Parts: sequence; C-alpha cells; structure tokens
Amino acid sequence: MKSSFNPPKIIKLLFDNFIWNTSNSKILFTFDDGPNVETTPIILKKLNDLKIKSVFFCVGNNLTQYPSLIDEILSEGHSIGNHTWNHKKVTDFKINDYQEEISQFNFYMLEKFNYRVKLFRPPHGRFNFGFYRNSDKHQLKVIMWSLLTYDYKNDLKVVKFALQNYLSHNSIIVMHDSLKSKNIIIDSIQFALDISLEKKLNIGDAASCLN
Ligand SMILES: [Zn+2]
Repeated sequence: MKSSFNPPKIIKLLFDNFIWNTSNSKILFTFDDGPNVETTPIILKKLNDLKIKSVFFCVGNNLTQYPSLIDEILSEGHSIGNHTWNHKKVTDFKINDYQEEISQFNFYMLEKFNYRVKLFRPPHGRFNFGFYRNSDKHQLKVIMWSLLTYDYKNDLKVVKFALQNYLSHNSIIVMHDSLKSKNIIIDSIQFALDISLEKKLNIGDAASCLN
C-alpha cells in the first residue's frame, strides 16, 4: 500500500475488517515501534500531563530489552498492541511462517505481564490478501489508521501539515515511539492536542474508540 496521510477509501473498503477510524467520533493517539528508553519516558510524561490515554504498538525485541517501560505504559492506563516480534513486513513472509512473529509477542505479554493483547498493527503498514484472510487467527483486532503524521521524518512542519489538514472527528493518529522522531515528538503531541481543541474534537482511549 502506498503511503499517504490518510489511506485511500478503496483500500479501507477492500480491507474493511481492519479498523481505520475510531467508532465513537473521538480521536485516538497511537505510538509505534517502542518501547525505547530515550523516547517512551518523555512520551508517557507528556501524555500524563495532557491526560491522554493512548495505544503503544510495541515490538517484541524492544519488550525484552525494556520490560520496566512496559510496566510504566500499563500502569499509566495505556494499552499495548502487537507490532510483531521483529518488525518485519508481513509481505516478506509466507503467511504460515509469519504466525510466530505474532504469537510470540502475545505469549510474552501474557506470561510476563498477565496482559492479554487484543490489538495488532502490521509493520510499515504493509499487508496482503493472504494476511487479510488469516488476520482473525490470533483473535486480534487489526488497527490501521486514518492519519499518518510522518513524524519519523523528524520534521515538525510535516507533522503540523498532516494534523492541520487531516485531523477529523474519528481519526486514529500514528506517531512513533522511536529515536527517529525523538526531537519532535513532544511538540507533535502538543500540536495534535492544540489542533483537536481548535477543531473542537475530543480524544478517547482504546476501550472507547475501538469498539
Ligand atoms: Zn512500525
């Protein structure tokens, strides 16, 4: 799928079992690729200051490196989603070979944190029909997005453009919990909140937005 701020309608229609927008006219913040020792703590502090609950789509390898950050994410009332064990593209595998990438993550979260993962986001936003047909195997909701901020380009102007032009009442916003966006992530979160207020949009959490 070609990247864009908001994926084309045709893609959303073709893959309509995936969730592209919130179901309750509230905005949902999501952060991909963490946890990361340099970014997760500052993001958590900012979200706490602004009273925003979000979803962290984490990568398995990072979980094992920073388990204490997972504790913090959960204890502050955010949700954790599965973003695979190694952050490899679904499309680079035969579908049966891919199952381990997903199940290993769920198993780890259940064993170590007694946390049952309910959400999944494919790395790089890439998927195919094989994945789509098998996507209910792990009883995970596949959460895509309706607003990719391109924060990983590390240019606040791009993030501002994305939010100003594409934020709407049911947006699922993607940002990144990684070094790529470290320098602009706090300003990006603040700007997202400012634009939400300006457009009179409310912010929700995973439980309310992804029903
Ligand atoms: Zn990712």
